[in-house]
Amino acid sequence: MKVGIIRCNQTEDLCPGTSCFKALKTGSGAFQNSSENEIIGFVSCGGCPGKKAIPRALKMIEKGADAIAISTCISKGAPIKFPCPHFEMIKNALKQNLPENIKILDNTH
Ligand code: SF4
Repeated sequence: MKVGIIRCNQTEDLCPGTSCFKALKTGSGAFQNSSENEIIGFVSCGGCPGKKAIPRALKMIEKGADAIAISTCISKGAPIKFPCPHFEMIKNALKQNLPENIKILDNTH
């Protein structure tokens, strides 16, 4: 998969993304069904309530992503056990606005 990752803007100054990159490289977590993975982009949602997730996902698709991963900091609250309260809204907005052939993953590691 060619993956664009969207992460939490509130978490990016706490987390260098190591677990996301490791899962992608080793084919674990959300990437376990794909033997070859490439990172296309690593962006934040833009801040609450996450509206910039959609244009940023579209930009990564323009740059070659065929999958958009909503990172574990958003869906599960890693590393501070504080999931995004807007997760479902962001996920649904991505589903509604991205081309149908783009895979949407709801976590990373
Ligand atoms: S909308 Fe969610 S993912 Fe984005 S900054 Fe706010 S808490 Fe983080």
